[in-house]
Amino acid sequence: MLEKDVSLVEGAIKEYYFNHFDLIGIPSKISQREFGYQKINGGMIRHVAINDIKELHLLLMRETPSDVYCSNAYYSFPSMPMSEKDWKGADLIFDIDAKDLGLSCRNDHSVSRCSECHDTVIGKQTACAKCGSTKSELVSVACKNCIAESKVETKKLIQILVSDLGIRDEEIEVYFSGNEGFHLRVVNNSYEILESQQRADLADYVMFNGAIPETFGMKKQNNSKSTLPEMGEFGWRGRVAENLFGSKSKAAKMSRQIILDGYSAFQVRLDSMRQTIGARIDPKVTMDIHRIFRLEGSINSKSGFSKFKCKNIDEFDPFTDAVLLGEEKAEVIANCPVQIKLKNKKFGPYSNERVSVPKYAAVYMICKGLASAV
Ligand SMILES: [Zn+2]
Ligand SMILES: [Zn+2]
Repeated sequence: MLEKDVSLVEGAIKEYYFNHFDLIGIPSKISQREFGYQKINGGMIRHVAINDIKELHLLLMRETPSDVYCSNAYYSFPSMPMSEKDWKGADLIFDIDAKDLGLSCRNDHSVSRCSECHDTVIGKQTACAKCGSTKSELVSVACKNCIAESKVETKKLIQILVSDLGIRDEEIEVYFSGNEGFHLRVVNNSYEILESQQRADLADYVMFNGAIPETFGMKKQNNSKSTLPEMGEFGWRGRVAENLFGSKSKAAKMSRQIILDGYSAFQVRLDSMRQTIGARIDPKVTMDIHRIFRLEGSINSKSGFSKFKCKNIDEFDPFTDAVLLGEEKAEVIANCPVQIKLKNKKFGPYSNERVSVPKYAAVYMICKGLASAV
């Protein structure tokens, strides 16, 4: 990032941490966590120990990090190398990201930016129309549908955690990730000691991976003796029945037909059901017991939005609620081929124009590589 862009973005981030430090989610057992951070154009600094809230405030004000992370784990010695940290346990965490959901809207709000001449165009392109370069990066800009679909996955996940795994609603913290998805943190003592493999199994469970017909009463031999689950049953059996039959009145007839169709056809049905009834999380995040996870309330430098706590996920609108950088005007040269709507104001499309926009919109476009400070 160019020096003048760095200074605009860092200025806005510093102001945010000065004015909104109250939005930072102070982790429990703060002194046992490993912190990490990055500065714009800089590498990741890890293995940082922080003793209290004051030290955290100082770090944010002194370093103006573009991104701040905190371990889900707690250790005896958080600043030591990994092998010497002495792992004590870790919060159970989940990551849902719109880019992993295979949504058809993605191409409409992806922008290719040529690495040579910086020309931008909507959608994927193999070679730049202006300079012919084949080097480009693809950035995704704000999309309501991506957020709506991520909310659907988040709610499915919460439902499974609460109904099947004995986790209470109030033990689940939901955060907008600051870009295109949601992060969940479970604060429940009985899960914090799970090892990586157990967390991988748990991830498979919530994703409905590896389901076999036998679990749902379908027999490979003596197929006619199969009995499928009924609607209203506990856990996956109930969810599968609901997906298969839709309503109680149709259940008996459909059940007979599905049994007639046989074992293999049922396996195919189970596999395709995964997208609908499983929660589409990133399993790598959940199974990682040494992860440093974006700090709650901190700024995400992919957008300049904050990782914002959602008290009511249905009403939450990231493009208003999580846009917390300054409102003063900033001058930028914008080259943003799609229109963006932030805080109910529309910006663009812009084609290499000098515009004066609120700082939050300037930072957003700069972070996406679609504008540059004047
Ligand atoms: Zn080009
Ligand atoms: Zn989308």
